[in-house]
Amino acid sequence: MFKCVICKSELIEYSGIATCTFCGAKEEADYICPNGHYQCEDCRLATQSEIIERVCLNTKSKNPVDIVNLIMKHASFNAYGAEHHELAAPAILSALKNLGYVNLTAARIKGAMKRGSNIPYGSCGSTGACGASISAGIAISMFTKSNYLKDRERSLTIKTVSKALMKLTDLGGPRCCKFSTYAGIESAWNVLINDLGLNLEPLNIVCDFQDELPDCKKEKCPYYKK
Ligand SMILES: [Zn+2]
Ligand SMILES: [Zn+2]
Repeated sequence: MFKCVICKSELIEYSGIATCTFCGAKEEADYICPNGHYQCEDCRLATQSEIIERVCLNTKSKNPVDIVNLIMKHASFNAYGAEHHELAAPAILSALKNLGYVNLTAARIKGAMKRGSNIPYGSCGSTGACGASISAGIAISMFTKSNYLKDRERSLTIKTVSKALMKLTDLGGPRCCKFSTYAGIESAWNVLINDLGLNLEPLNIVCDFQDELPDCKKEKCPYYKK
């Protein structure tokens, strides 16, 4: 039997129109999750980059953690991998778009992903800079229109990445791309609230993948909650 990628329930036969949980498209469905989750044909076949783009372009969510949790449940996403280096930036910017703080086109989403796409797998251990932390910095860079000639914008971009990296330092290894994604988003959110004065709800991050991950640090991880 097929299982729902989102909640793992067994799919049930269905005839009618269903709405894709990933992209919001409506199509004729044969099977649906008893909890209402549905994956459209295009999302089912999407690559890692395509599913990030499809979700970020269409989501109505104002919470970047909910956005990354949905994307990370897609079948193309591995427990760990360089796909996480393209993830935090477009998710943060999409949430900011839905909160009315930015305009976000498909091209801007692609740009946010592209900036993170050259960071190789394992860069946390091989260079000291985690790709998911950098992706959070990319969101602040794009939000503030930072570049290497800017003053405060550049500092806030670097601050986002360095605060995220400190969270990784404090937790210790081995890798956890889910933790790094959450830590990066939390760091960016803190900069948006405390340094840039945005009126945002604080994030209450609980890992959606706890115990499923081979290297889960369980009680040692601040996002692990029973
Ligand atoms: Zn489901
Ligand atoms: Zn879809």
